[in-house]
Amino acid sequence: MWKVLYPHFLVDSVVELTPERLRTLGIENLLLDVDCTLKRYALQEPEPEVMAWLNLLRDENFKLCLLSNGVGTRIGQFATLVDLPYIAKACKPFPSGCRRAFREYGFEPSKTAIIGDQIFADVMAGRLAGIRTFLATPIAPEEEHWFTRIKRPFEKIVLRSFKLAYPDGIWKER
Ligand SMILES: [Mg+2]
Repeated sequence: MWKVLYPHFLVDSVVELTPERLRTLGIENLLLDVDCTLKRYALQEPEPEVMAWLNLLRDENFKLCLLSNGVGTRIGQFATLVDLPYIAKACKPFPSGCRRAFREYGFEPSKTAIIGDQIFADVMAGRLAGIRTFLATPIAPEEEHWFTRIKRPFEKIVLRSFKLAYPDGIWKER
């Protein structure tokens, strides 16, 4: 019952997804949440270490696509800044945005993962689309919209039960 809410992997930051780690998992494509995952909601730019990570993955031939519920103009500006394709208004937790990336960018689901900071958006969308999911600790969550912040206490409950079941932060089929 919890499975759709459980990430496959828990990480502190996107930068933990090194090329080596992704290759070991057979992941070639990444769908990237924007707000609180790549950058602070209130800022337009990511931290330098995140920018360096994006460039590293690109240099290593990983295919990346931003996948955000944010509006097109704001996400489009960020996409231009980091020079990546994007899908805005992705309607996460529904899997339609992920599926659009499969269609439009040729991302093969078995080689694709999503990384984001919200269980009730990023993890669910990835689970429902049948891809692997990384849940990252949100960057400055206090800056997000109230309708995101009200979900956080419920996410904490799910996260607590996930950590009890999987203390190493890695989900396993049981
Ligand atoms: Mg987010």
